[in-house]
Amino acid sequence: MAIKRFPDEQPREGDIILHCAHPYGRGPFRWYWVQEPDGGPTEVEAPTGVRLQVHWIALCSDCEVESMRTGRDVEAFVRGHRVWSGDALVIQKDIVS
Ligand SMILES: [Zn+2]
Repeated sequence: MAIKRFPDEQPREGDIILHCAHPYGRGPFRWYWVQEPDGGPTEVEAPTGVRLQVHWIALCSDCEVESMRTGRDVEAFVRGHRVWSGDALVIQKDIVS
């Protein structure tokens, strides 16, 4: 699986995203695009046991900072998933220092 930070694309209506389950109050989300070597989505198992095909991971800024500080993979911070609704611009490209 390959991960790209701040992809040019963003989730579209109906896309499944994985997230860290922290509220927006913890800062803007950072987006990651994930794909298999053939370009297809990565399959993950939700806590409910449902298999999901996903391209998107969203972490709050606290989790992203912790990921960078510790070197833990961004997938380690995933706590849930949801279906994205709307096509509003949400990508935050500011860099955490
Ligand atoms: Zn978080």
